[in-house]
Amino acid sequence: MNVVSRKEKREHEKDTNYFFELMKIKNHFMKDLDVRFKNVKDPRHQSYITYDCDILLFMIILKNVCNLKSMRSMTNHFNKEECIDNVGKILGLETLEELPHYDTINDFLSELDPKELEDIRTYIIKELLKKSCFDRYRINGKYWGVIVDGTGLFSFDHKHCDHCLRREYTDKETGEKKTVYMHHVLEAKLVIGDMVLSIASEFIENESEDVSKQDCELKAFYRLAEKLKDSYKRLPSVLGDSLYACEGVFNQCNEFKWKYMFRFKEGRIKSISKEFQKIKELEQDDTSSDIFWVNEISYNQRKVNVLECTMEETEKGVMKFTFITDFNITKRNAKNLVGVGRSRWKIENQGFNRQKNIRYHIEHASSHNYVAMKNHYLLAQIADILMLLYEKGCRMLKSFQKTAKEISSNLLEAIRTRRITDEDITTLVKPIQVRFT
Ligand SMILES: [Zn+2]
Repeated sequence: MNVVSRKEKREHEKDTNYFFELMKIKNHFMKDLDVRFKNVKDPRHQSYITYDCDILLFMIILKNVCNLKSMRSMTNHFNKEECIDNVGKILGLETLEELPHYDTINDFLSELDPKELEDIRTYIIKELLKKSCFDRYRINGKYWGVIVDGTGLFSFDHKHCDHCLRREYTDKETGEKKTVYMHHVLEAKLVIGDMVLSIASEFIENESEDVSKQDCELKAFYRLAEKLKDSYKRLPSVLGDSLYACEGVFNQCNEFKWKYMFRFKEGRIKSISKEFQKIKELEQDDTSSDIFWVNEISYNQRKVNVLECTMEETEKGVMKFTFITDFNITKRNAKNLVGVGRSRWKIENQGFNRQKNIRYHIEHASSHNYVAMKNHYLLAQIADILMLLYEKGCRMLKSFQKTAKEISSNLLEAIRTRRITDEDITTLVKPIQVRFT
Protein backbone atom coordinates (compact mmCIF):
# COMPACT_ATOMS: atom_id res chain seq x y z
CA MET A 1 0.00 0.00 0.00
CA ASN A 2 1.35 3.38 -0.94
CA VAL A 3 1.07 6.24 1.45
CA VAL A 4 -0.38 9.15 -0.46
CA SER A 5 0.86 12.72 -0.28
CA ARG A 6 -1.22 15.34 1.49
CA LYS A 7 -2.28 16.95 -1.76
CA GLU A 8 -3.31 13.62 -3.25
CA LYS A 9 -5.19 12.90 -0.05
CA ARG A 10 -7.16 16.15 -0.34
CA GLU A 11 -8.04 15.41 -3.97
CA HIS A 12 -9.11 11.86 -3.14
CA GLU A 13 -11.10 12.92 -0.15
CA LYS A 14 -13.04 15.50 -2.10
CA ASP A 15 -14.39 12.72 -4.28
CA THR A 16 -14.97 10.26 -1.49
CA ASN A 17 -18.36 9.79 0.07
CA TYR A 18 -17.46 7.91 3.24
CA PHE A 19 -21.02 6.96 4.00
CA PHE A 20 -21.69 5.58 0.56
CA GLU A 21 -18.44 3.57 0.66
CA LEU A 22 -19.66 2.04 3.91
CA MET A 23 -22.98 1.13 2.28
CA LYS A 24 -21.05 -0.63 -0.49
CA ILE A 25 -19.29 -2.76 2.10
CA LYS A 26 -22.65 -3.49 3.76
CA ASN A 27 -24.10 -4.61 0.45
CA HIS A 28 -21.06 -6.69 -0.38
CA PHE A 29 -20.85 -8.64 2.88
CA MET A 30 -24.41 -8.54 4.22
CA LYS A 31 -26.70 -7.87 1.31
CA ASP A 32 -29.84 -9.05 3.09
CA LEU A 33 -29.26 -6.98 6.21
CA ASP A 34 -32.01 -4.43 5.47
CA VAL A 35 -34.52 -7.16 4.64
CA ARG A 36 -33.62 -9.02 7.79
CA PHE A 37 -34.01 -5.85 9.83
CA LYS A 38 -37.40 -5.31 8.25
CA ASN A 39 -38.52 -8.85 9.00
CA VAL A 40 -37.68 -9.16 12.68
CA LYS A 41 -40.65 -10.28 14.75
CA ASP A 42 -42.30 -6.94 15.48
CA PRO A 43 -43.47 -6.81 19.11
CA ARG A 44 -45.46 -3.59 18.72
CA HIS A 45 -49.17 -3.12 18.56
CA GLN A 46 -49.69 -3.00 14.80
CA SER A 47 -52.22 -0.16 14.78
CA TYR A 48 -49.80 2.45 16.21
CA ILE A 49 -46.94 1.88 13.82
CA THR A 50 -45.40 4.77 11.92
CA TYR A 51 -41.99 3.28 11.21
CA ASP A 52 -41.01 -0.17 10.06
CA CYS A 53 -38.46 -2.18 12.03
CA ASP A 54 -35.70 -1.68 9.44
CA ILE A 55 -35.41 2.06 9.92
CA LEU A 56 -35.54 1.80 13.72
CA LEU A 57 -32.67 -0.68 13.75
CA PHE A 58 -30.71 1.02 10.98
CA MET A 59 -30.70 4.28 12.97
CA ILE A 60 -28.83 2.59 15.81
CA ILE A 61 -26.30 1.13 13.38
CA LEU A 62 -25.75 4.69 12.09
CA LYS A 63 -25.50 6.06 15.63
CA ASN A 64 -22.76 3.53 16.36
CA VAL A 65 -20.73 3.92 13.18
CA CYS A 66 -20.83 7.73 13.55
CA ASN A 67 -19.67 7.31 17.14
CA LEU A 68 -22.54 9.26 18.69
CA LYS A 69 -22.65 8.52 22.37
CA SER A 70 -26.17 9.40 23.41
CA MET A 71 -29.55 8.78 21.85
CA ARG A 72 -30.34 12.48 22.15
CA SER A 73 -27.27 13.48 20.15
CA MET A 74 -28.26 10.94 17.51
CA THR A 75 -31.66 12.57 17.07
CA ASN A 76 -30.04 16.03 16.99
CA HIS A 77 -27.24 15.21 14.56
CA PHE A 78 -29.40 13.30 12.12
CA ASN A 79 -32.12 15.94 11.99
CA LYS A 80 -31.12 17.28 8.58
CA GLU A 81 -32.79 17.15 5.16
CA GLU A 82 -29.81 15.43 3.54
CA CYS A 83 -29.65 12.84 6.27
CA ILE A 84 -33.37 12.01 6.04
CA ASP A 85 -33.04 11.72 2.24
CA ASN A 86 -29.98 9.49 2.49
CA VAL A 87 -31.56 7.09 4.95
CA GLY A 88 -34.70 6.99 2.78
CA LYS A 89 -32.63 6.24 -0.33
CA ILE A 90 -30.60 3.47 1.27
CA LEU A 91 -33.66 1.74 2.72
CA GLY A 92 -35.79 2.39 -0.38
CA LEU A 93 -38.35 4.47 1.54
CA GLU A 94 -39.58 6.98 -1.02
CA THR A 95 -41.84 8.98 1.25
CA LEU A 96 -39.71 9.30 4.37
CA GLU A 97 -40.31 12.76 5.87
CA GLU A 98 -38.91 12.45 9.37
CA LEU A 99 -36.49 10.11 11.08
CA PRO A 100 -37.83 8.31 14.13
CA HIS A 101 -37.27 10.04 17.47
CA TYR A 102 -35.04 8.25 19.97
CA ASP A 103 -37.97 7.57 22.31
CA THR A 104 -39.74 5.69 19.53
CA ILE A 105 -36.59 3.65 18.91
CA ASN A 106 -36.04 2.87 22.60
CA ASP A 107 -39.67 1.86 23.08
CA PHE A 108 -39.27 -0.58 20.21
CA LEU A 109 -35.94 -1.91 21.52
CA SER A 110 -37.50 -2.46 24.96
CA GLU A 111 -39.86 -4.99 23.47
CA LEU A 112 -37.86 -6.61 20.71
CA ASP A 113 -36.62 -10.11 21.54
CA PRO A 114 -32.77 -9.91 21.53
CA LYS A 115 -32.75 -13.33 19.87
CA GLU A 116 -33.91 -11.58 16.68
CA LEU A 117 -30.68 -9.56 16.56
CA GLU A 118 -28.56 -12.53 17.57
CA ASP A 119 -29.96 -14.42 14.59
CA ILE A 120 -29.09 -11.54 12.27
CA ARG A 121 -25.52 -11.52 13.55
CA THR A 122 -25.34 -15.29 12.93
CA TYR A 123 -26.49 -14.68 9.36
CA ILE A 124 -23.74 -12.06 8.88
CA ILE A 125 -20.99 -14.31 10.26
CA LYS A 126 -22.15 -17.28 8.19
CA GLU A 127 -22.03 -15.15 5.04
CA LEU A 128 -18.47 -14.10 5.94
CA LEU A 129 -17.29 -17.63 6.55
CA LYS A 130 -18.52 -18.61 3.10
CA LYS A 131 -15.93 -16.27 1.60
CA SER A 132 -12.80 -18.23 0.85
CA CYS A 133 -10.57 -15.19 1.38
CA PHE A 134 -10.70 -15.86 5.11
CA ASP A 135 -9.77 -19.56 4.97
CA ARG A 136 -6.07 -18.98 5.45
CA TYR A 137 -6.68 -17.69 8.96
CA ARG A 138 -7.75 -21.05 10.30
CA ILE A 139 -5.65 -22.74 12.96
CA ASN A 140 -3.95 -25.87 11.58
CA GLY A 141 -5.93 -25.19 8.41
CA LYS A 142 -9.10 -26.37 10.08
CA TYR A 143 -10.20 -24.58 13.23
CA TRP A 144 -11.47 -21.06 13.66
CA GLY A 145 -9.99 -19.26 16.64
CA VAL A 146 -12.79 -18.16 18.94
CA ILE A 147 -11.89 -16.14 22.02
CA VAL A 148 -14.16 -16.35 25.02
CA ASP A 149 -13.96 -13.48 27.46
CA GLY A 150 -16.21 -11.52 29.75
CA THR A 151 -16.39 -7.85 30.56
CA GLY A 152 -18.39 -5.42 32.66
CA LEU A 153 -20.93 -3.23 30.89
CA PHE A 154 -23.01 -1.22 33.34
CA SER A 155 -22.79 -0.57 37.03
CA PHE A 156 -25.13 1.29 39.34
CA ASP A 157 -25.17 2.23 43.01
CA HIS A 158 -28.82 1.23 43.29
CA LYS A 159 -30.82 -1.78 42.19
CA HIS A 160 -31.42 -1.46 38.48
CA CYS A 161 -33.48 -4.59 37.75
CA ASP A 162 -34.17 -8.07 39.08
CA HIS A 163 -31.32 -9.50 37.03
CA CYS A 164 -28.47 -7.29 38.30
CA LEU A 165 -25.33 -8.97 39.62
CA ARG A 166 -24.54 -7.65 43.09
CA ARG A 167 -21.26 -7.13 44.85
CA GLU A 168 -20.94 -5.89 48.40
CA TYR A 169 -18.03 -3.76 49.47
CA THR A 170 -17.03 -1.53 52.33
CA ASP A 171 -16.63 2.15 51.59
CA LYS A 172 -13.04 3.00 52.52
CA GLU A 173 -13.82 6.47 53.80
CA THR A 174 -17.01 5.93 55.77
CA GLY A 175 -16.66 2.22 56.56
CA GLU A 176 -20.22 1.84 55.35
CA LYS A 177 -21.32 -1.42 53.70
CA LYS A 178 -22.48 -0.77 50.15
CA THR A 179 -23.74 -2.77 47.21
CA VAL A 180 -22.87 -2.23 43.58
CA TYR A 181 -25.29 -3.51 40.93
CA MET A 182 -23.81 -4.61 37.63
CA HIS A 183 -24.36 -6.12 34.24
CA HIS A 184 -21.67 -8.17 32.56
CA VAL A 185 -21.48 -9.95 29.24
CA LEU A 186 -19.57 -12.98 28.02
CA GLU A 187 -18.46 -12.76 24.41
CA ALA A 188 -17.34 -15.28 21.83
CA LYS A 189 -15.21 -13.48 19.28
CA LEU A 190 -13.99 -14.93 16.04
CA VAL A 191 -10.42 -14.18 15.08
CA ILE A 192 -9.83 -13.46 11.40
CA GLY A 193 -6.36 -12.06 10.86
CA ASP A 194 -6.20 -8.92 12.95
CA MET A 195 -9.99 -8.60 13.20
CA VAL A 196 -11.99 -9.89 16.15
CA LEU A 197 -15.67 -10.20 15.34
CA SER A 198 -18.39 -10.83 17.89
CA ILE A 199 -20.17 -14.09 17.00
CA ALA A 200 -22.16 -14.80 20.17
CA SER A 201 -22.97 -12.96 23.39
CA GLU A 202 -24.29 -14.30 26.66
CA PHE A 203 -25.38 -11.86 29.33
CA ILE A 204 -24.21 -12.75 32.81
CA GLU A 205 -27.30 -12.14 34.92
CA ASN A 206 -29.24 -13.49 37.84
CA GLU A 207 -32.45 -15.28 37.01
CA SER A 208 -34.19 -13.40 39.81
CA GLU A 209 -33.28 -11.16 42.71
CA ASP A 210 -33.41 -13.91 45.33
CA VAL A 211 -31.06 -16.50 43.79
CA SER A 212 -28.88 -18.19 46.40
CA LYS A 213 -25.84 -18.24 44.13
CA GLN A 214 -25.22 -15.54 41.56
CA ASP A 215 -24.54 -16.11 37.90
CA CYS A 216 -20.88 -16.00 36.85
CA GLU A 217 -18.65 -16.12 33.80
CA LEU A 218 -18.06 -19.85 33.99
CA LYS A 219 -21.77 -20.66 34.28
CA ALA A 220 -22.46 -18.35 31.36
CA PHE A 221 -19.81 -20.18 29.34
CA TYR A 222 -21.92 -23.34 29.17
CA ARG A 223 -24.91 -21.37 27.90
CA LEU A 224 -22.71 -19.59 25.38
CA ALA A 225 -21.27 -22.93 24.23
CA GLU A 226 -24.78 -24.24 23.54
CA LYS A 227 -25.55 -21.15 21.49
CA LEU A 228 -22.36 -21.51 19.46
CA LYS A 229 -23.04 -25.17 18.86
CA ASP A 230 -26.59 -24.43 17.69
CA SER A 231 -25.65 -21.53 15.44
CA TYR A 232 -22.46 -22.67 13.75
CA LYS A 233 -21.48 -26.00 12.30
CA ARG A 234 -17.89 -24.90 11.70
CA LEU A 235 -15.34 -26.08 14.21
CA PRO A 236 -14.05 -23.53 16.65
CA SER A 237 -10.93 -23.73 18.68
CA VAL A 238 -11.85 -22.06 21.94
CA LEU A 239 -9.29 -19.68 23.38
CA GLY A 240 -9.65 -18.18 26.82
CA ASP A 241 -7.95 -17.23 30.04
CA SER A 242 -7.01 -19.41 32.95
CA LEU A 243 -10.53 -19.41 34.36
CA TYR A 244 -11.57 -21.88 31.64
CA ALA A 245 -8.84 -24.40 32.38
CA CYS A 246 -11.10 -26.81 34.26
CA GLU A 247 -12.64 -30.24 33.87
CA GLY A 248 -16.14 -29.01 33.01
CA VAL A 249 -14.92 -26.87 30.13
CA PHE A 250 -12.51 -29.54 28.80
CA ASN A 251 -15.44 -31.92 28.84
CA GLN A 252 -17.76 -29.53 27.04
CA CYS A 253 -15.15 -28.93 24.31
CA ASN A 254 -14.55 -32.67 23.85
CA GLU A 255 -18.24 -33.36 23.66
CA PHE A 256 -18.72 -30.73 20.96
CA LYS A 257 -15.52 -31.82 19.15
CA TRP A 258 -13.96 -28.40 19.70
CA LYS A 259 -10.27 -27.81 20.28
CA TYR A 260 -9.23 -25.63 23.18
CA MET A 261 -6.26 -23.56 24.25
CA PHE A 262 -6.35 -21.67 27.53
CA ARG A 263 -3.90 -19.62 29.50
CA PHE A 264 -2.71 -21.76 32.36
CA LYS A 265 -1.74 -20.27 35.67
CA GLU A 266 0.15 -22.27 38.21
CA GLY A 267 -2.29 -23.40 40.83
CA ARG A 268 -5.30 -23.56 38.52
CA ILE A 269 -4.87 -27.35 38.44
CA LYS A 270 -2.05 -28.27 40.81
CA SER A 271 -1.43 -31.84 39.66
CA ILE A 272 -0.86 -30.71 36.09
CA SER A 273 1.50 -27.91 37.12
CA LYS A 274 3.52 -30.33 39.24
CA GLU A 275 3.81 -32.93 36.52
CA PHE A 276 4.81 -30.32 33.99
CA GLN A 277 7.51 -28.84 36.25
CA LYS A 278 8.89 -32.27 37.07
CA ILE A 279 9.29 -33.25 33.43
CA LYS A 280 10.67 -29.84 32.61
CA GLU A 281 13.43 -30.19 35.20
CA LEU A 282 14.33 -33.63 33.88
CA GLU A 283 14.18 -32.91 30.20
CA GLN A 284 14.90 -29.31 29.48
CA ASP A 285 18.61 -29.65 28.76
CA ASP A 286 18.82 -26.66 26.49
CA THR A 287 17.86 -23.79 28.77
CA SER A 288 18.36 -21.26 26.00
CA SER A 289 15.27 -22.55 24.25
CA ASP A 290 12.36 -20.25 24.90
CA ILE A 291 9.63 -22.81 24.23
CA PHE A 292 9.06 -25.99 26.18
CA TRP A 293 6.12 -28.37 26.06
CA VAL A 294 4.89 -31.66 27.43
CA ASN A 295 2.25 -33.70 25.63
CA GLU A 296 -0.08 -36.17 27.29
CA ILE A 297 -0.13 -35.20 30.92
CA SER A 298 -2.79 -37.33 32.60
CA TYR A 299 -5.63 -35.51 34.25
CA ASN A 300 -8.77 -37.32 35.40
CA GLN A 301 -9.74 -39.53 32.46
CA ARG A 302 -7.99 -37.40 29.86
CA LYS A 303 -4.63 -36.27 28.56
CA VAL A 304 -3.74 -32.61 28.26
CA ASN A 305 -0.78 -30.83 26.70
CA VAL A 306 1.06 -27.91 28.25
CA LEU A 307 3.11 -25.35 26.39
CA GLU A 308 5.29 -22.71 27.96
CA CYS A 309 7.15 -19.90 26.36
CA THR A 310 9.41 -17.22 27.74
CA MET A 311 9.91 -14.05 25.84
CA GLU A 312 11.71 -10.80 26.11
CA GLU A 313 9.18 -8.00 26.11
CA THR A 314 10.45 -4.50 25.64
CA GLU A 315 8.27 -2.82 28.25
CA LYS A 316 7.65 -5.49 30.83
CA GLY A 317 10.96 -7.38 30.84
CA VAL A 318 10.84 -11.16 30.53
CA MET A 319 7.34 -12.61 30.33
CA LYS A 320 6.32 -16.23 30.70
CA PHE A 321 3.17 -17.59 29.11
CA THR A 322 1.80 -21.04 29.78
CA PHE A 323 -1.02 -22.62 27.85
CA ILE A 324 -3.03 -25.79 28.27
CA THR A 325 -4.43 -27.34 25.13
CA ASP A 326 -5.60 -30.49 23.41
CA PHE A 327 -3.71 -29.60 20.23
CA ASN A 328 -0.86 -32.07 19.96
CA ILE A 329 2.27 -29.95 20.23
CA THR A 330 5.14 -30.67 17.86
CA LYS A 331 8.40 -29.02 16.95
CA ARG A 332 6.72 -27.79 13.80
CA ASN A 333 3.63 -26.18 15.32
CA ALA A 334 4.85 -25.07 18.77
CA LYS A 335 5.83 -21.59 17.74
CA ASN A 336 2.65 -21.11 15.76
CA LEU A 337 0.53 -22.24 18.70
CA VAL A 338 2.26 -19.77 20.99
CA GLY A 339 1.42 -17.12 18.43
CA VAL A 340 -2.21 -18.23 18.36
CA GLY A 341 -2.39 -18.10 22.13
CA ARG A 342 -0.57 -14.82 22.60
CA SER A 343 -1.81 -12.61 19.82
CA ARG A 344 -5.36 -13.40 20.79
CA TRP A 345 -5.17 -11.69 24.14
CA LYS A 346 -3.58 -8.66 22.72
CA ILE A 347 -6.29 -8.35 20.12
CA GLU A 348 -8.97 -9.12 22.62
CA ASN A 349 -7.95 -6.42 25.02
CA GLN A 350 -7.96 -3.99 22.17
CA GLY A 351 -11.42 -5.25 21.21
CA PHE A 352 -13.13 -4.38 24.49
CA ASN A 353 -11.08 -1.24 24.85
CA ARG A 354 -12.15 -0.06 21.42
CA GLN A 355 -15.80 -0.68 22.17
CA LYS A 356 -15.65 1.08 25.52
CA ASN A 357 -13.35 4.00 24.99
CA ILE A 358 -12.99 4.73 21.30
CA ARG A 359 -16.23 3.89 19.61
CA TYR A 360 -19.70 2.55 20.59
CA HIS A 361 -19.35 3.39 24.32
CA ILE A 362 -20.80 0.03 25.36
CA GLU A 363 -20.63 1.07 29.02
CA HIS A 364 -22.96 3.98 28.38
CA ALA A 365 -26.59 2.96 28.88
CA SER A 366 -28.62 4.24 25.92
CA SER A 367 -31.74 3.10 27.73
CA HIS A 368 -32.40 1.94 31.29
CA ASN A 369 -34.70 -0.82 30.17
CA TYR A 370 -32.76 -4.07 30.43
CA VAL A 371 -34.09 -5.58 27.19
CA ALA A 372 -33.29 -2.39 25.29
CA MET A 373 -29.81 -2.38 26.84
CA LYS A 374 -29.22 -5.85 25.46
CA ASN A 375 -30.50 -4.86 22.05
CA HIS A 376 -28.31 -1.76 21.99
CA TYR A 377 -25.33 -3.92 22.86
CA LEU A 378 -26.10 -6.41 20.08
CA LEU A 379 -26.55 -3.63 17.53
CA ALA A 380 -23.17 -2.21 18.57
CA GLN A 381 -21.66 -5.64 17.83
CA ILE A 382 -23.26 -5.69 14.38
CA ALA A 383 -22.06 -2.14 13.71
CA ASP A 384 -18.57 -3.18 14.84
CA ILE A 385 -18.45 -6.09 12.38
CA LEU A 386 -19.47 -3.72 9.58
CA MET A 387 -16.87 -1.13 10.60
CA LEU A 388 -14.05 -3.68 10.87
CA LEU A 389 -14.80 -4.91 7.35
CA TYR A 390 -14.93 -1.31 6.18
CA GLU A 391 -11.73 -0.19 7.85
CA LYS A 392 -9.71 -3.28 7.03
CA GLY A 393 -11.17 -3.98 3.61
CA CYS A 394 -11.71 -0.61 1.96
CA ARG A 395 -8.57 0.26 0.04
CA MET A 396 -9.28 3.97 -0.04
CA LEU A 397 -9.52 4.15 3.76
CA LYS A 398 -6.30 2.23 4.29
CA SER A 399 -4.37 4.66 2.11
CA PHE A 400 -5.73 7.63 4.09
CA GLN A 401 -4.46 6.17 7.37
CA LYS A 402 -7.12 7.66 9.61
CA THR A 403 -7.96 6.90 13.20
CA ALA A 404 -11.26 5.28 14.16
CA LYS A 405 -12.56 8.59 15.51
CA GLU A 406 -11.65 10.46 12.33
CA ILE A 407 -13.40 7.88 10.19
CA SER A 408 -16.54 8.18 12.31
CA SER A 409 -16.54 11.99 11.98
CA ASN A 410 -16.12 11.65 8.24
CA LEU A 411 -19.08 9.28 8.16
CA LEU A 412 -21.21 11.70 10.14
CA GLU A 413 -20.27 14.58 7.91
CA ALA A 414 -20.99 12.59 4.75
CA ILE A 415 -24.39 11.39 5.87
CA ARG A 416 -25.38 14.95 6.84
CA THR A 417 -24.05 16.79 3.82
CA ARG A 418 -23.75 14.60 0.73
CA ARG A 419 -26.87 13.47 -0.99
CA ILE A 420 -26.93 9.96 -2.41
CA THR A 421 -28.54 9.97 -5.86
CA ASP A 422 -30.79 7.40 -7.54
CA GLU A 423 -27.91 6.70 -9.86
CA ASP A 424 -25.64 5.92 -6.89
CA ILE A 425 -28.19 3.42 -5.64
CA THR A 426 -28.10 1.50 -8.92
CA THR A 427 -24.32 1.06 -8.50
CA LEU A 428 -24.77 -0.56 -5.08
CA VAL A 429 -25.42 -3.98 -6.59
CA LYS A 430 -22.17 -3.95 -8.59
CA PRO A 431 -19.42 -6.18 -7.21
CA ILE A 432 -16.56 -4.40 -5.42
CA GLN A 433 -12.94 -5.28 -4.73
CA VAL A 434 -12.13 -5.95 -1.11
CA ARG A 435 -8.74 -7.02 0.18
CA PHE A 436 -7.71 -7.75 3.71
CA THR A 437 -3.93 -7.70 3.33
ZN1 LIG B 1 -30.12 -4.70 36.24
